[in-house]
Formats: sequence, C-alpha cells, structure tokens
Amino acid sequence: MKITKESTEHVKCLIIGSGPAGYTAAIYAARADLKPVLYTGIEPGGQLTQTTDVENFPGYPNGILGPDMMDEFKEQAERFGTQVRFGYASKVDFSDDVHKVEIDGSTVISADSVIIATGASAKWLGLPSEDKYSGFGVSACAVCDGFFYKGQEVAIVGAGDTAAEEATYLAKICSKVHMLVRRDEFRASKTMENRVLNTANIEIHYHTETKEVLGDGQVVTGVKVFNNQTMEEKVLDVTGFFVAIGHKPNTDIFKGFLEMDANGYIITQPDSTATNIKGVFASGDVQDSVYRQAVTAAGTGCMAALEAERYLAGIEQYEQSEQTQSAV
Ligand code: NDP
Repeated sequence: MKITKESTEHVKCLIIGSGPAGYTAAIYAARADLKPVLYTGIEPGGQLTQTTDVENFPGYPNGILGPDMMDEFKEQAERFGTQVRFGYASKVDFSDDVHKVEIDGSTVISADSVIIATGASAKWLGLPSEDKYSGFGVSACAVCDGFFYKGQEVAIVGAGDTAAEEATYLAKICSKVHMLVRRDEFRASKTMENRVLNTANIEIHYHTETKEVLGDGQVVTGVKVFNNQTMEEKVLDVTGFFVAIGHKPNTDIFKGFLEMDANGYIITQPDSTATNIKGVFASGDVQDSVYRQAVTAAGTGCMAALEAERYLAGIEQYEQSEQTQSAV
C-alpha cells in the first residue's frame, strides 16, 4: 500500500532488523560511509537473545551467551557510526525509486537503499511449560543446542523436513531421540522420512501430542505426552525438548512489493541479496529457509551492504552525469 504521508528524514541506507544479518550489514555499510540507520524491531538482537550459549559462531572459542553476542554486534556497528534506534517498521512503500518506511505506525523515513533483516520466528506449541523452560532444555534449533545433550535422551516435535533433519542430527549426538508426530504420517519428503525410519536410535511416536514439558524448576526433566486417539498419557524421561514445527519469516509488511515463495520467504537473485525491487536487499533468515544459522545470516548481511554500496555508487554516478549535462 502507498504511504501518502511525507517523510521527515532521508537516509542513504536504512536497515530493518537487529539480528546477526542486520548488525553485520550495519558494520559494513557504516565503514563504507553510507551512514546507516538501523531500526531494531520489537525484539532487539533477534532470535539469539532467546538462546543461552552460542558455541558455533567462529571467533568465540569458549562460547558466548546469545544476548551478550548481540550486544557486541551492536557495539561494533555503533563504533563505525551506525545509528541504532529502537523501533519497528510498520509499513513500507517501495513503489518509487526513493523507498518509504513507516516506523512505529507514525514517523515516515525515506531511503535510497533498504536492507531487510527482519528474520524469522520459530513456531512454538504455546504451552506455558514450554515457555518456562525455553533456553533451559527447550529449544527450537537442534544445530545450535543439540551438543548440550550429548549422550542424553531427547524429544523432538514435528514431522516435516526440519524435524526429520534435526532428529537425524540429534541421533548422532544423543543416546535416543523420541520423535513426536501428531498424525500417523510424516509431512517430510520420502527421502528424509526414510532417513529417520532407518536410524536405530530414533523412536517415532505417532498420533502423539505434548501435554506438558516437565522440569525441576531449573531445567527440563521430562515430557508428558498423550495419544490423540486413545487419550492415553505417558511420561518420557528426556532432558532436551526440541520444537521443529516450522518457522514464520517476518515478511508480512513487504507483501505486495517483494516476491516471496509459498512460505513467505523473500526471493533474492542467485548469489545475491537483491530483491525484485531496485535498492532493496534482503539478508538473513528472512530469505533463507535452509541454513538459518547466525553465521550464514551475518554472511548475507555483509553481502547486502556491499550490494547496497554498489547500487548507491551507481545512483551517485548517474546524478553527477545529469548535473554535468545540464551545466553544458
Ligand atoms: P512444515 O510446515 O513442512 O512442517 C511442520 C511439521 O510440524 C508438520 O509435520 C506439522 O504436522 C507439525 N506441526 C505443526 N504444528 C504442530 C503442533 N502444534 N503440534 C505438533 N506438530 C505440529 O515445516 P518445516 O520447518 O519442516 O519445513 C518448512 C519448509 O522448509 C518446507 O517446505 C520444507 O520442505 C523446507 N525444508 C527443506 C529442507 C531441506 O530441503 N533440506 C530442510 C528443512 C526444511 P502436520 O504434518 O500434522 O501438519
């Protein structure tokens, strides 16, 4: 939808989102003198602020707490002059060369280039006990947190490709993986399903849903599940509870302007972060349904800033040649 309100500020490079992609884009854009302005969104630091230890991001040999890592990203972005502002993008208008973004439902900012790094959010079951133990045994990322359950028994909810991939990943680390499937069949591709079926230490519980995550007040100690046909309940003694029921990319406000796939992920050009709109780039989980790692998000954040820089240099060159022509 068009934004009719006049903008109160114009910037060269506007970054939306404050996860690894957004801050990395900011570091590169600031060092290239694009004077970036970054809006954090309602969850400054993004998904990593909901995890505890991050042990797979290079450069932290002893690991680091997710929120601490994001504070360091922010500090590094600000060190080179990024203006980091708390606020969320409530609406966009990419119908002209100068892009307009509404912030917090009120102020409008215009920008020559926009880097979208709004991320994706893991879907949760919505149980109070799941929320209570989030980061203390409950996780939505097996690759990030599986290692903490080495040699232990864990459960994973879901039957799509993500759940199948994460269950086989966990099976290599953990002594046993209980896979909780709510129907009598998988949604995952046959190949992925077969991989699960052929893994000896994965036990599949069909028609099974989660009633409650159990804990001792500090960490997870089990999970109470029920069979949705017989309504029979049982407790599985697990120390880790993984939820893999899908992610939702945070792209609602871009609908109508940007090309997206069937799941709402922004489509970028091959080997690029360019979207279908000139001067608008997408980086991180918002355009990546496959890897979804902090380090890959940071990598595409870097790409987006470099591409924005080249794009802006092209505009400047064009404006200079226009001025020269009108002076002749
Ligand atoms: P999907 O939406 O494909 O699957 C979600 C799974 O979670 C389904 O089995 C669904 O059950 C289950 N589920 C949803 N809500 C609940 C709930 N409340 N309680 C219990 N179970 C629930 O999500 P994915 O993340 O697995 O995949 C998303 C997309 O990404 C897909 O297109 C997938 O193919 C792709 N992908 C590809 C990969 C690859 O190619 N390597 C790896 C990972 C993902 P039900 O089936 O009953 O609805």
